[in-house]
Amino acid sequence: MHRFFVSPDDLTPDRVSLTGTVVHQLRNVLRMTPGSRIIVLDDSGWEYEVELTEVSRELVEGVVLVRRLTETEPQVKISLYQSLLKGDRFEFVLQKCTEVGVVEFVPTLAARCVVSNLDIDPRRMDRWERIIQEAAEQAYRGRLPRLQPAMLLAEACKRMVRAGPALMLHEGVTQASLHSLVAELDADPNGSSLFNVSVLVGPEGGFTDAEVDQAAGYGVRPVSLGPRILRSETAGLVTAAAILYHRGELEPLE
Ligand code: SAH
Repeated sequence: MHRFFVSPDDLTPDRVSLTGTVVHQLRNVLRMTPGSRIIVLDDSGWEYEVELTEVSRELVEGVVLVRRLTETEPQVKISLYQSLLKGDRFEFVLQKCTEVGVVEFVPTLAARCVVSNLDIDPRRMDRWERIIQEAAEQAYRGRLPRLQPAMLLAEACKRMVRAGPALMLHEGVTQASLHSLVAELDADPNGSSLFNVSVLVGPEGGFTDAEVDQAAGYGVRPVSLGPRILRSETAGLVTAAAILYHRGELEPLE
């Protein structure tokens, strides 16, 4: 059944009333009619099975048949601090990491970013939000990953460390592998440390030595992904998948 994130304003406990672009998708693309069923989500953690009662040019209405908690969200909350990348590579990161289960994206400005402006065009941010939403709907996500405003590396490091364990992916590291670091976090006495983990990924040209030192100074842990050099847009995806796999989050629901 097709899933759509909608505004909480479109929902009452027993009815849904949709306008805007989703109407076009339901009516003209998916050719839905009264009687069709969809799942709508309001990003609250609940999802609603809906039977359409009206499908017109401007409005789609339906009745809520069933309300249930979403169950596809991972326990591990991975925040990806992705250095800004050229062209559609950044969009690739948003789409793929939404599919795999990342819960937050923070565009980060590193020294070697080709894109060198923190003020991202609002239309670009809107496009990025749409990419995240479409990927979340397609991937059966229960919540919408958050997209934060772009920030400088120092600010990103401080925010990462405040939230919990913070990893910096760097191919120049020899003494810390992802596996050894995640195992160390697992062994953390209070046990909850791996529920919020932040992963920082460098730009096409990598981090400078000064940036690695600066991040380490804030408590961000440099980590290697092994001897092969991944593209920036590959590194975050691989790390998110590896952490989720390690924590048993790539298992079928009972
Ligand atoms: N310096 C690299 C380019 C950077 S790769 C080169 O020689 O081509 C882009 C980013 O992906 C890096 O900044 C790092 O965050 C991540 N990355 C890629 N391969 C990695 C690896 N083997 N270990 C850790 N991080 C890696």
